[in-house]
Amino acid sequence: AEKFGIDEALKELGLQDINNGTSTGKNWFSSGEEIASYSPVDGALIGKVKTTTKEDYEKVISTASEAFKTWRKMPSPQRGEIVRKFNDELRRLKEPLGKLVSYEMGKSYQEGLGEVQEMIDICDFAVGLSRQLHGLTMHSERPGHRMYEQYHPLGIVGVISAFNFPVAVWSWNTALAWVCGDVCVWKGSEKTPMTSVACQNIAAKVFSENGLPEGISCLITGDYKVGEMMTKDERVPLISATGSIRMGKIVAQAVAARLGKSLLELGGNNAIIVTPDANIKNTVIGAVFGAVGTCGQRCTSTRRLIVHEDVYDKVKEAIVDAYKQLRIGNPLDENNHVGPLIDKDAVKNYQAALDKVVEEGGKILVEGGVLEGEGFESGCYVKPAIAEAQNHFEIVQHETFAPVLYLMKYSGDLENALELQNGVKQGLSSAIMTNNLREAERFLSVEGSDCGIANVNIGTSGAEIGGAFGGEKETGGGRESGSDAWKIYMRRQTNTINYTTELPLAQGIKFDL
Ligand code: NAD
Repeated sequence: AEKFGIDEALKELGLQDINNGTSTGKNWFSSGEEIASYSPVDGALIGKVKTTTKEDYEKVISTASEAFKTWRKMPSPQRGEIVRKFNDELRRLKEPLGKLVSYEMGKSYQEGLGEVQEMIDICDFAVGLSRQLHGLTMHSERPGHRMYEQYHPLGIVGVISAFNFPVAVWSWNTALAWVCGDVCVWKGSEKTPMTSVACQNIAAKVFSENGLPEGISCLITGDYKVGEMMTKDERVPLISATGSIRMGKIVAQAVAARLGKSLLELGGNNAIIVTPDANIKNTVIGAVFGAVGTCGQRCTSTRRLIVHEDVYDKVKEAIVDAYKQLRIGNPLDENNHVGPLIDKDAVKNYQAALDKVVEEGGKILVEGGVLEGEGFESGCYVKPAIAEAQNHFEIVQHETFAPVLYLMKYSGDLENALELQNGVKQGLSSAIMTNNLREAERFLSVEGSDCGIANVNIGTSGAEIGGAFGGEKETGGGRESGSDAWKIYMRRQTNTINYTTELPLAQGIKFDL
């Protein structure tokens, strides 16, 4: 770890004693069994983190509830000012945090820095938002009456996040929830506990330095059993959960059973449609980055390339050629394009997908395989693969969280490509590569892509925080980040005020006593 500057980064993040101290302090009360975090980069132990017990959890919830009473009363622009200070810390710690993200999760250092940049961006957004939590005013049908709506904070927001964006997803939720006046309890992924602790420490420092209760930001640690404490807890009005569709179906039911609110950001099965009018060079860059970036472990990773028969061979050749140039290896080395998968289970899923696509009649165009030898000791490095496949194959209908790209052909009209593109259960991200205005507009029209994200002449991955992020169908329907996504973190109240001496009823109803 030393040679990648990780020890230094851990020190800057205040995590150097994570193994010999207790995991208390900084409003993180975990005292249960330990989970170890191993880096997929070199297989080394980064640190051990204690998990949250039922008793710890109760303490967290009461601390958070108590903090809410203070935080909700602070004017939202002042809460924005606290988020701004938190953002100053993120800017200061961007490099060590980006490095830890890269080392614990396995994405490239550039992408680790990019993830922290996303945190910075959403905080900037939240600061502006803190003066814009607008409601509408309406004209009352009754004379001498005024009607308007306002937004109040909800209370405790439970955030459950996935391993692949171990820090950004937390901030997408918390930066907005905080300016909205909510307090947050976060359960990060059990695969990336160190980054969670690092973030919690940054937030806790800012709250305590500003004389605010640390319970505004709480951390719970552990696997799904710890997550379930929150999903079943009626003291947590909103659960924002990011992860697999399998998880989302369980969480949605647990939250619905107590009529809570959920915001679900689940798996995708994202496609790029390549029409005869596409710029092939840009298509190849967009598709390759989309398919192999973060080693195919983005919810918006490109899984399917749907190419018109007129340009199929040309695109196929160019993309196979591009794959030959990919350098796989240590993600902290900026010369490499592709780092490791998160763990050996992910490697097994990747191998199983490649076996299955062949079994179903697919044809491998770029061979996969697990890399061995020097630099690949963790056993998590795999070769990005491409297979020609049919959309209806069971494996193609599935999200395999690995760098496996399926190439398929369409003929005739764009409608045929759209049928393939929409012909999956997930609905997160989609893209079309075309210089034809009619095709682009049809893709974006009501008859076009059914996804939450639909791009023209860029790939499926790499969303900006300014837009609402999320997807339809089994992706869960939630929206996070920009636009008006903040509304889910608040409760809406409609107020009617009568400033007359009479009491007229709505709808002209007469009720004389
Ligand atoms: P996962 O579903 O295994 O775990 C995600 C989180 O949910 C973890 O913190 C886990 O502990 C928790 N969890 C699992 N079961 C739970 C339960 N029953 N109750 C409460 N919590 C539970 O997902 P993962 O492997 O960490 O991440 C990969 C998946 O996440 C992919 O499907 C990817 O597409 C998806 N993802 C989606 C988005 C999005 O915004 N749409 C973003 C990132 C990742």
